[in-house]
Amino acid sequence: MSQPRHPSGLDPRTEVLTRGFDPSLSVGSARPAVFRSSTYVFSSPEAAEHAFDLMAGRVQPKPGEHVDLVYSRFNHPNAEILEDQIVPLEAGARSALVFNSGMAAIMTALLTFARPGDSIVYTVPIYGGTQHFIQDFLEPWGIIGIPAPAGDGKAIAAAMAAAPRPAVVLVETPGNPTLIMTDIDAVVRQGRSHAVPPLVMVDNTLLGPTFQHPLVLGADMVLYSATKYLSGFSDMIGGVAMASDAGLIRRMRSKRSLFGNILQPDECWMLDSRLPTVALRMNRASKNAQRIAAELARHPKIERVLYPTLFPDPEQRRIFEAQCDYPGGMMSIELRGGKPAAFEFLRHVRIARNAVSLGGVETLACHPKSTTHSGFTEAEFAQAGISDGLVRISVGIEDWHDLLADFEQALAAV
Ligand SMILES: *Cc1c(COP(=O)(O)O)cnc(C)c1O
Repeated sequence: MSQPRHPSGLDPRTEVLTRGFDPSLSVGSARPAVFRSSTYVFSSPEAAEHAFDLMAGRVQPKPGEHVDLVYSRFNHPNAEILEDQIVPLEAGARSALVFNSGMAAIMTALLTFARPGDSIVYTVPIYGGTQHFIQDFLEPWGIIGIPAPAGDGKAIAAAMAAAPRPAVVLVETPGNPTLIMTDIDAVVRQGRSHAVPPLVMVDNTLLGPTFQHPLVLGADMVLYSATKYLSGFSDMIGGVAMASDAGLIRRMRSKRSLFGNILQPDECWMLDSRLPTVALRMNRASKNAQRIAAELARHPKIERVLYPTLFPDPEQRRIFEAQCDYPGGMMSIELRGGKPAAFEFLRHVRIARNAVSLGGVETLACHPKSTTHSGFTEAEFAQAGISDGLVRISVGIEDWHDLLADFEQALAAV
């Protein structure tokens, strides 16, 4: 797939810099100002009354009507600017909503669209917080969580068919830390065969918005931890939901106003300033990772490298080629020698830092079995393919020769 264009006809890299911000509203400032105010002054009591009528849905805005701001838990200028500017980066998106974490975006999406008695089918492995939220929070509230193995189209279809009142199918692809890929198009087609099609949501944090375009494939919503590639410098926490159908986003917006989990003005401003470089950063990280993965795959101390261009399974290769533009900056390596080897490797890397999280300009590495995925049972480790020797690497934008040399010297110390 090539990068699809937005309906404006402009390339996303152009549009992100040219839409959604009016300098005249920021005293001519070329980049947005930060509006930290918690409350907004009305031009008249009638305007205040109208603003509350609009907010409560008692009246509908007229076409082109500018809706007055009220209070920053509901909305504020920096969220509006960011939401306008991020839309062109996600092919197929028409509307966006920003949150104060990726978990806040995921939580608000699930609480908006699933009711007690509904079920949520989700691929596993899935982000630990997401799994925890579904299993330990939503289940006791009467929403049924049904895990289905990522990458296994038949098993996912069977889970969807057997699910009582499926409201949402949440797909995380590629899966973390093994990068196993799920066929989004197949899930969408399966969903459409249901009498009441469930909403298909994709956690697009690992390859989006640059390399994977779920909305173009028919998914209803994409969810992001903006903490990762979108912000890209490991210095903030944020989340985003985007959809083609603005009505879905409108329904989530009223929940966000209630929960109070909107992204704050300063963080909106920071994230907004990072958007024009998302594609640059992701492209550099992906090229680095692809070269390093190819070299490390030949290393005698490494059992296997988990990376999309090196998938041994033809079905996984097919999904990658059909669904992703480039393989991205995430890889995992499985060291011979299990946990001691993995720990020695992490102890000896000098450029890469031993930290969880991903998607930053700097290279990070961690041992999933003892950290990010340590809550798994042995059966879950086996099913997900998370072994003792597995090290996950989020490749940054450093010079790839330097990174490879760093990994090689750390491997020599193992
Ligand atoms: C980090 C992450 C999340 C959670 O995002 P936060 O910003 O930490 O709340 C969700 N999904 C994936 C795939 C992630 O990597």
